Amino acid sequence: MTTTIAFIGLGNMGGPMAINLQKAGFKVCATDLSSDARARVAEAGVCVVDSAAQAIEGAEVVISMLPASHHVEGLYLGKDGLLAQLDTSVRVIDCSTIAPESARKVAKAAAEKGISLIDAPVSGGTAGATNATLTFIVGGDLDAFEAAKPLLAAMGKNIFHAGGHGAGQVAKVCNNMLLAIHMIGSAEALNLGVSLGLDASVLSDIMKQSSGDNWSLQKYNPMPGVMDGVPASRDYSGGFGTDLMLKDLGLASDAALGAQAPIPLGGLARQLYAVHSAGGSGGLDFSSIVRMLQKA
Ligand code: NAD
Repeated sequence: MTTTIAFIGLGNMGGPMAINLQKAGFKVCATDLSSDARARVAEAGVCVVDSAAQAIEGAEVVISMLPASHHVEGLYLGKDGLLAQLDTSVRVIDCSTIAPESARKVAKAAAEKGISLIDAPVSGGTAGATNATLTFIVGGDLDAFEAAKPLLAAMGKNIFHAGGHGAGQVAKVCNNMLLAIHMIGSAEALNLGVSLGLDASVLSDIMKQSSGDNWSLQKYNPMPGVMDGVPASRDYSGGFGTDLMLKDLGLASDAALGAQAPIPLGGLARQLYAVHSAGGSGGLDFSSIVRMLQKA
């Protein structure tokens, strides 16, 4: 019998993920606070309802893909939260990128009610969400991880168990701090080359075969006109928002402070994204940081 899934949060990532679960044969009932987000997923033939309370009716698994810690805590905790309404047989998978301590807090509250909950943040961007090639980085009990695997496999191709509750978030925060650093570095190098008269595509090809190669150059070039299908080719719309990257760099800074681990480049990346956001670019994809460097 097919698993019935309540999917909550149908933004740039959650929308395509819910659609891929449905394509893989799972029975999905999805929702989002935004009517536009609901409409986009309904157009793809997925059952969409107006509220999380409706979505969880009859669900065996709940998957959430929300922006930040306070959204996740708001959804699950408190007397009106989902944990108070779910049957103990329901399994919960939170794919949002949130603070490790927030993931642990929600998992502890779930365990107190006898509900199994894992953190399963993702990497791979909107292309990974659309093409079902995401990397899932899971924190939580091994049994719950094994049980979640068939569902995660319908949305991604690499599935890692990082450790106990919150460990998925720790790995994700480290990864995204590195992503911010190599995106800024790639933007800086490309802008320097263009300022010195080079063609951005030619320079990108050279660096991709040289020691400066990295994921931002390979998959997510920040310069318009170099790569099709990336946010830079559509005025930095869609993709991974600057404010979401800023949130992740804040999570890295908080975690580093707690662990007394120095993150000089991560700290600088956070400040650069804060300036970019304050300049009005918070809603643009994070690769738009190149605009901050370009001559007017
Ligand atoms: P998004 O802003 O596009 O979508 C989030 C959606 O959640 C919105 O549609 C919003 O209306 C909805 N929402 C918020 N609170 C809700 C609630 N209580 N009930 C129902 N819906 C609610 O964000 P996104 O880009 O899809 O990212 C989601 C998460 O995935 C974030 O934590 C982000 O850091 C992470 N992430 C994003 C990317 C990316 O490339 N966009 C990549 C990896 C991880």
